[in-house]
Amino acid sequence: RHMHRLADTRPALAPALAAITDAVHGDLEGDALRRAFARLDGAGTAAAAPHAQTLRSTTDGRLIQDILKQLTIPAGLEPLANDIKRSLDTPACDVQRRQTSKQLVRLVGESKAHAERRQTELKQFLKHTVTRLLQLEAALNEANTLTQTASSETLQGRRATQAELVQLRTMSAETEDLDQLKAFVGTRLDHLQAHLQQQDNAGDLRQRKLMEQLVALSQQVTQLSAETINLRSRLDVTTEEALRDPLTGAFNRLAYDRRAALEVARWQSDGGALSMIICDIDHFKHINDEFGHAAGDKVLKEVVRLLQQQLRSSDFVGRYGGEEFVVLLNGAGEQAAIQIADKLRRSVKAAPFRSRGGRVPVTISCGIGSFTGDDTLEDVFERTDAALYAAKEQGRDRCVFAAPKGSA
Ligand code: GH3
Ligand code: MG
Ligand code: MG
Repeated sequence: RHMHRLADTRPALAPALAAITDAVHGDLEGDALRRAFARLDGAGTAAAAPHAQTLRSTTDGRLIQDILKQLTIPAGLEPLANDIKRSLDTPACDVQRRQTSKQLVRLVGESKAHAERRQTELKQFLKHTVTRLLQLEAALNEANTLTQTASSETLQGRRATQAELVQLRTMSAETEDLDQLKAFVGTRLDHLQAHLQQQDNAGDLRQRKLMEQLVALSQQVTQLSAETINLRSRLDVTTEEALRDPLTGAFNRLAYDRRAALEVARWQSDGGALSMIICDIDHFKHINDEFGHAAGDKVLKEVVRLLQQQLRSSDFVGRYGGEEFVVLLNGAGEQAAIQIADKLRRSVKAAPFRSRGGRVPVTISCGIGSFTGDDTLEDVFERTDAALYAAKEQGRDRCVFAAPKGSA
């Protein structure tokens, strides 16, 4: 509505302003995106439903391929997407299919969250742009002596603008196209400026004043969009950095908190297995004392590498504290978790750590816990940590399973 007065004075601008207004006040999701998500949600729910946990037919395989094609995979989730793709290419048993459908549910959930964040950023950018254009309107209204021109040039301009608007509408529905949208808004402002420049050449002094305001405003818009882009990329980097431990590159405590909450919520809703392993390097203080802090750091990095190598990309490994790591195993029950923990323990013990030409013996101890009954995250963490303590007490370089709540 605010735009209408400006639109009256500048016919060529009307559609551009209307489209920007639409984009801001309207539903940014766009039909296509909404349909895609509805479909993804459907597939996700179907895969998570207790009696539909397997992907039965090749139709399902094709559906998954479609879904993967439609998803914008956020950075960091490509390994998971690749796992899913790979499992589609190979014949699978029911257990593997169930695993794949779970991975898919997770991928869809996280991709959707990522797309929603992008959308919020885009919405903000458009809101800023409209604020600027409203200021522009005020400036134009101030000089309300402007004359209407209906030259053929204006009509031509209007037609060109309308073509560009179709583009703008499409773009505002595609959240990933922020850069293009920015460029487009920039072009519109340039046109506007050029248009007024012509009138300025006609010698109107008020127009000259207006021009100056306009240039200032358009510079602000340009700067603003540049800031938005920078902010966006900085946000991406910060979020990625904020979730990693700089020394080892493993996920950190914050990432663990988030991921654990997610895994537990899913465990509560779909009832599949979920286990936890807490590993702690044995006598690490001694390694530091004997071989130096730098050697200690090297051991930490190498241990993370070994843990990651033994685990699947759908598992989670994070550095919880100094030389303590938490692993979350989605889909692994008690027996599987015990086997995996022991595999981790053996792989560290077997790895050839060396410092100053000598061998550095490195071992880990593990506590293992599985989610059962009405367990909370705290319940399982607490008893897994107690099991780790027991492993240390019993002589280290071993794994101890934490008996579930209520068992003798
Ligand atoms: P335990 O077998 O009982 O686990 O004994 P420990 O010596 O491993 O355990 P303790 O908790 O006594 O010592 C942990 C040591 O880890 C102390 C600390 O200086 C060291 N540490 C913590 N973070 C780092 C790090 O980032 N780099 C290095 N080099 N050492 C670290
Ligand atoms: Mg230790
Ligand atoms: Mg420790």
